[in-house]
Order: sequence, then structure tokens, then C-alpha cells
Amino acid sequence: MASLLIRNAAQVVCVARQDERCKRGPEMRELAIIDDGAVLIQDERIAWVGPTTNLPPQTTATHVIDATGKTVLPGLVDSHTHLIFAGSREDEFEQRLQGISYQDIAARGGGINATVRRVRAASKDQLKETARRRLDRLLSYGVTTVEVKSGYGLSQADEVKCLHAIAELKQEHPCELVPTFLGAHEVPPEYRDDRGAYLRLLIDHMIPAVADGRLAEFCDVFCERGVFSVDESAHILDAAVAHGLKVKVHADELSPLGGAELAARFGATSADHLLHVTQAGIEALREAGTVATLLPGTAFFLGLPYAPARRLIEAGVPVALASDCNPGSCMTENLPLIGTMACTQMRMLPAETVTALTLNAAAAVGRSDRLGSIEPGKQADLVIFDVPNYRRLAYHFGVNHVWRVIKSGRVVVGA
Ligand SMILES: [Zn+2]
Repeated sequence: MASLLIRNAAQVVCVARQDERCKRGPEMRELAIIDDGAVLIQDERIAWVGPTTNLPPQTTATHVIDATGKTVLPGLVDSHTHLIFAGSREDEFEQRLQGISYQDIAARGGGINATVRRVRAASKDQLKETARRRLDRLLSYGVTTVEVKSGYGLSQADEVKCLHAIAELKQEHPCELVPTFLGAHEVPPEYRDDRGAYLRLLIDHMIPAVADGRLAEFCDVFCERGVFSVDESAHILDAAVAHGLKVKVHADELSPLGGAELAARFGATSADHLLHVTQAGIEALREAGTVATLLPGTAFFLGLPYAPARRLIEAGVPVALASDCNPGSCMTENLPLIGTMACTQMRMLPAETVTALTLNAAAAVGRSDRLGSIEPGKQADLVIFDVPNYRRLAYHFGVNHVWRVIKSGRVVVGA
């Protein structure tokens, strides 16, 4: 049996104790930290965690890592990305800086549809190779699990092509991938004059095909003024649930449309963005136990107001953070930097951001029974950061502090 022992870590940040599945309110600050900690891994699971001095005397391991002066965290989970795409949109970035509105850019053929054209022209292998580089970069920042959405194909063949690319990368890359079908990302140009036909395509053909092919775990919908209304989104999600898919919602990003309430009504695993969530929406999320996934990188990049993280936390909604990595509104794989943005722009505390990037993010992809904390029995996904305590991560921002990444008991970065 292969075993790996990490010892002498300045801090082992366990995040959870005793089978907590997500954290709410003040629990988000409680990280179950062990000073001078050790973690023993047997095969792909965590076998023991505690102070180094308490290691059972007969403990032996195939490999030993001396983590003196370093901090061990659960592998980070990026629970919201759009990283299957082709091309890039720095041209639009510059246009926006010159004062051209997103609506005008879209009217000139830019925006999501610019990426859709490139994705349709790309082969599955081309999509895989560019996405693989993004996954490599995420992994280098300590991210061991990544949710990946389709949504730039917007035809059955192109959405399936993207989901096949995700499925193959899931087999080939050390990161664990969680596939989400986002055919309801936008109405493609060829259906502009007949939205109903695109809805029927989604509901009658694409969702059944995705579910039958087991190509996605989640179905997501961009519920937004000018994209999919609450009623349209509900029809799409009805079909998703009927076909056994779990639900996520892009909710209340640009306007308070009621996306959070919709997500709660469907028992969604997560409601994401929430810049304009109302108090009623916050109450609904808490009642439903839906994770609020906040994406401050997008607000930062677009110059939008930030989601009300403090109100969500204080109301008892479990809050997660994710990158939203995508070519239009947040082109970064630096997930720890998102944690710093959450501190400085949304007044989250460093401890809360750690919970939001680990346990609560695992809950946002339905995996907190197996991932997101350092507890015996859980999968051995760990990051060792070259910092003496977890606060240093959010504080010393924009640089990569990763020293080792361990996925399922195997050292995959820094070996
Ligand atoms: Zn998104």
C-alpha cells in the first residue's frame, strides 16, 4: 500500500470536523487548524491527521514530506468555470475601456457569440488542448477539482462536442472535472427571431441527449433579462430535473430578476453571481440550503458592484467562491487571487474565503462528502502552500504560493 506522510506543517487547515457538509454564518470562520500538523495518506485517502508530535510511534510511510514553515489546505475547488472555449477577447476588453458598452460590442458581433463562432469552428481536439493548458494553470494554483460548463456551442452537435472534450480531459488530467450543460447560456444568432424554437431544441432534444449520454451532472441556465426569463429558465430546469440532472442557475447577475428564488424553488445545488440578489432571494436560498457561489473576479473585471457576501453569510446562506474563468468577463485561473478580491471588495475574512474555496465549493458541486476538508476517510486532495499561515495567502496576493499539490494521494505539482 502506497503511503505519504506530511509532517511538521506550520498549519494544517482541516476546514471541517465531524462530517460537516457545508458551513454557514460564523461556522465559515472556524477552520479546525492544527499547528505543527501532520497528515498521513494511505493510497488515495486521508488516514490520519493531527499534531506531528501525536503521530503514532510506529508510523511509517513510503514517502515523507517535511512541510516545516508551510501551510496545508484541502485542494481548492473551482465550482464555476467556462474554460472550454476557443480564441480570446482582449480586443473587447480594450473597447470596453474606451467606453463602448457590452451591448454595442455584442451588436458588432462580439460578446458570447464571438466565442460561439470560434468554438463551432474548432475541433474537439483543439478545444481540449487549449482547455488542458487552463487546467494545468488552475492545478498550479492549487485547484484540484474544477466544474466546467459547456455553453459556447449552442447547437446540439457543438454542445456535445464540448461535453465530449470535457469527458476526455476528465480521464486525462489530474484535476477532477465536473461537467455542466449550459446550452441555455444564450440564444444563438440563428434563433434570434424564434426563441421558442431554441427552447424546444433545448428541452426536447439537447437535454435528453446530454442526460442519456451521461455527458453532464448539472444543468445550468443564464437567467437574465434579455437572455432567459424566469419562466423560460423554469421550463428548461423542469426538463433537466425530469432527466435526472442536478441544477445550477446564473442568478441575479445584472438585474434582480428572481434567479435566486428560482434556484431555491428547484432545490438547486448552487445559485451563482447574485450581484443583485434581493432579501427575499437570500431568504429563499437559506431555506433551500442552496450554496451561493460568488464570482468577484467578474465584478472586478467588468467594473460592476460586488455581490452582498456579508448579508448572505449573516443570513446563514453557505457561500462559495469561484473563478468564473471565461474569455469575456474573467480571464484568470488564479483562484487564490479571487479570495483576496473577496476580502477587499466584499469584506469576507480570510478564514471565510478558505471555507468558500474548499468545503463550500465542494458542496457547490455536490462533492463535500468526499472533498473540501482534511479529515480521515476523505479523498487525499491537498495543497501545501509556502506560507507560514493561511492568512498570508489572501494578504500576499497575485503571486503563486503553491509548493506541492496532491491529488488522490499522488503528488502532481512539485514532485
Ligand atoms: Zn458563468
